[in-house]
Amino acid sequence: TKAHFGLVGLGVMGENLVLNAERNGFSSVVYNRTYQKTEDFLLGRGVNKSIQGAKDLQEFVSKLERPRRVLMMVKAGAATDAVINQISPFLEEGDLLIDGGNAQFMDTERRVKELESKSFGYIGMGVSGGAKGALEGPSMMPGGTKTSYDAIESLLNKMAAQVEDGPCVTYIGPGGSGHFVKTVHNGIEYGIEQILAEAYDLMKRVCGMSGDEMASVMGYWNKTEELSSYLVEITEACLRVKDPDDSSDLVEKIMDKAGQKGTGLWTVVSALELGASVPTIYASLNGRVMSSMKDQRNYAETILNGNKPSFVDFGKPSDGMPLLMDAVVLATIASYAQGMDILRLASEEYDYDLDMPSIAQIWKGGCIIRSTLLSRIQDAFKKDPSLTNLIIDKWFTDQVNNRLSGLTQVVSAAANAGIPVPCLSSTLDYLNSFRTSRLPQNLVQAMRDCFGSHTYERVDKAGSFHTEWID
Ligand code: NDP
Repeated sequence: TKAHFGLVGLGVMGENLVLNAERNGFSSVVYNRTYQKTEDFLLGRGVNKSIQGAKDLQEFVSKLERPRRVLMMVKAGAATDAVINQISPFLEEGDLLIDGGNAQFMDTERRVKELESKSFGYIGMGVSGGAKGALEGPSMMPGGTKTSYDAIESLLNKMAAQVEDGPCVTYIGPGGSGHFVKTVHNGIEYGIEQILAEAYDLMKRVCGMSGDEMASVMGYWNKTEELSSYLVEITEACLRVKDPDDSSDLVEKIMDKAGQKGTGLWTVVSALELGASVPTIYASLNGRVMSSMKDQRNYAETILNGNKPSFVDFGKPSDGMPLLMDAVVLATIASYAQGMDILRLASEEYDYDLDMPSIAQIWKGGCIIRSTLLSRIQDAFKKDPSLTNLIIDKWFTDQVNNRLSGLTQVVSAAANAGIPVPCLSSTLDYLNSFRTSRLPQNLVQAMRDCFGSHTYERVDKAGSFHTEWID
């Protein structure tokens, strides 16, 4: 019998997704460029399951029921184009290709157009949750034409993580919208990871805490409504692990250089293009860039002087260090608020017609940024679908009003200790800018008019004005 769907690319994600589909009752056929991997999989994790293998793409396509549904889980970029070109000659009208890799959303826009002009369906689908999520239930963000989505809806609904109000998958919108939403998801993820790293640095260097002591604070935070999340949970776990060589905290042995594969960069580039203000997310990206300049930092430390850490009390660890928690909560909220703002502007600019509450809903399970806060985000956008900034929703406004003093104290303590906290300090500037009705850009306007006759508006009368500022 023919298989329900096909998978191209038996990497860690592909293997787990196909096992997930099989567990949920969907038969499949798998193909991998290097055939040995297919054979190993069929004899290993894929043994005795309704999963068949194929040596080449022609055989692969012939084993699929029509209309064919083909999920590609290959390296993003040129590999995806290569697979599309190799498989297209064997496909027929109405067949559907789904790209589950981390594609650049503009690449997806192009591929949707190309494939649809050949009467094939094309879905660009962001997948989050890593290898474990792929196996047990990821969060999926599929975009493309609605009719294409309908052909895979039941498959995706079963494969996705399940939360109290449904599966963590929904039709996102046309074109590259699915990959766009995944990109922004990753931007928010960059932000939260950096925020937790900054909290760790302060606990370690300002408060002199051990890995286990810091982990306990994370454990406390993970029980609160504001911070309970997958990333806080794994941070606690990472901080507890010891190096088997000498039983010291393993995290201290890890080289302080963070990698990136592009989604954080694309988030920030898109934000700048759309005119979205995303300083917290940008600071996390820059944090990774700065971290990779290890040799330069090693040298600079020997010639640049600055303040040195001394103890500051952020509150009792057994109470979750309330001041530090204030800072972490507000920076986390800022990451989500900035990410949602990019989505709002992209929805208008690219006609994605994104449903903000649904996006918050599908991020509640399976994905890396899942958190209890997302229920509040979902509620805020349900209440007001055209909310211009999460922070002006009542619940979030209260958070800012209650915690801004804590964030301020933590950022100033960090500055006094000479410890960089780019996400926390950017958040403080973001919130202080946002709550300031009159900013000093009036003077920038004066300068622009002075050197370039760019003209300015006035606050007291309508019109466009120019002044000869220098005699
Ligand atoms: P990789 O990104 O390492 O990709 C491995 C797969 O790509 C292999 O099957 C490989 O085949 C295939 N491949 C590479 N180049 C080509 C090519 N030119 N033609 C055909 N096939 C090719 O694997 P992952 O499973 O980690 O990721 C798959 C996709 O999912 C990527 O786009 C990734 O960004 C995305 N993703 C990954 C996540 C993760 O946590 N790892 C999470 C979410 C998304 P071969 O065996 O022959 O080399």
